[in-house]
Amino acid sequence: CGVFGIFGHDKAAELTYYGLYALQHRGQESAGIATVEGRKMHHHKGMGLVSEVFNEDVLETLKGNAAIGHVRYSTTGDSSVANAQPLTFGFQRGNMALAHNGNLTNAYQIHGRLERQGSIFQTTSDTEVVAHLIAKSGLPTLEENVKESLSVVKGAYAFLILSDDKLLAMRDPHGLRPMALGQFEGAYVVASETCAFDTIGAEYIRDVEPGEMLIIDKDGLRSERFATASRKALCTFEYIYFARPDSDIDGFNVHSVRKKMGKLLAKEHPVEADVVIGVPESSISAAIGYAEETGIPYEIGLIKNKYIGRTFIQPSQELRERGVKLKLSAVRKIVEGKRVVLIDDSIVRGTTSRRIVEMLRDAGATEVHLRISSPPVTHGCYYGIDTSAREELIAATKSVGEIREYIGADTLSYLSEEAMLRAFGVEDFSNHKYCNACFTGQYPTEIYEDLEKHMLE
Ligand code: 5GP
Ligand code: SF4
Ligand code: MG
Repeated sequence: CGVFGIFGHDKAAELTYYGLYALQHRGQESAGIATVEGRKMHHHKGMGLVSEVFNEDVLETLKGNAAIGHVRYSTTGDSSVANAQPLTFGFQRGNMALAHNGNLTNAYQIHGRLERQGSIFQTTSDTEVVAHLIAKSGLPTLEENVKESLSVVKGAYAFLILSDDKLLAMRDPHGLRPMALGQFEGAYVVASETCAFDTIGAEYIRDVEPGEMLIIDKDGLRSERFATASRKALCTFEYIYFARPDSDIDGFNVHSVRKKMGKLLAKEHPVEADVVIGVPESSISAAIGYAEETGIPYEIGLIKNKYIGRTFIQPSQELRERGVKLKLSAVRKIVEGKRVVLIDDSIVRGTTSRRIVEMLRDAGATEVHLRISSPPVTHGCYYGIDTSAREELIAATKSVGEIREYIGADTLSYLSEEAMLRAFGVEDFSNHKYCNACFTGQYPTEIYEDLEKHMLE
């Protein structure tokens, strides 16, 4: 998911709308904005893309000079407007809106406990659990209510909370999900990624720290700590696949990190070939790096149709068998008669790579050498990235040789874990600040038994 917030600007809703547009790649399932105007809270949310959910008339109704927004990417499949965010509530202190990126790993347990104590839930979202904890807290200020609630929940979050008179921004103690702080025409802005700042013309100030709470109100900005992390663990998948190439996370530009991964991949796994191509869009940077390092020309050998939205009708089995290809097409004149190095950022289930290799051979490629710019994904993610349940992960049960055979590539190699970390600037491998649990099974937080079955999204 993606979150965006702004406090102290009379165009709060409009700016949030543009911010969410820039974060659209982080979630296409639903979008929403909540604003506060005095003691009134306005909100609008719906299923689909930001462009489908909002128009000028709707934005007009979202009055006020503070706003938070959310684009949602569902990781467990319960896709309904009730789970769209921001979630909004009225409680003893007034209004509260919440927007959350990430996944809480013990929300199911807390949800059950609260229900037994009489709480009534409106959604199946882990985020609502936090709202209940905040509303039940007896401490005197909203900041203390939030801190107390966050001391109970575990997992990954970049959280925004908007109340009648302040905006709070919190990042989990491990910093699993990214969030940055910026400034625009005297107003503070927060966003999942810095590309949202560039879009509205805001100036980047810094990343929000793990375990930090930012309090933004009419008096300005304050920072407090609500937790100290045992170890920072930023999600490596943000760099590998999820984030936009023009964003910087922790001072590293995403495109440059991906390009470095491509270069290291070339050093570890060179191959004789005529052309290097990347799977659009997330693998283009790595493909450029691989080409630069090997001297093999980089080419656009695959084209992605960018206009496939939510309402897209899947072709019938018959049309599929006749080879109707809608999302990706090979550029025949580029790959025909060529030995191709195909770069992808990751293999999850393996179905995409298998289809692409077949497509390249149909278009006349004589050899297809698949190079993956991250290590094999062997473990599931519980922190809000959709890398699937463990039994669906092809590398959880198959060796690299078996995967190569399934995919139908001539050769297959992955970037090593060490090289990946090196691309993020890591020198001391025993003490780095990244989560790479989906490659190693070493989760930065406690993992409960049967977690896959007992997750709220
Ligand atoms: P698969 O191997 O499951 O068929 O697909 C892998 C492809 O999906 C890669 O090209 C990669 O860019 C993309 N991908 C990587 N991570 C994710 C993810 O978390 N969710 C989804 N839906 N796709 C991903
Ligand atoms: Fe990211 Fe993998 Fe960690 Fe999930 S398990 S947060 S995808 S690095
Ligand atoms: Mg959630």
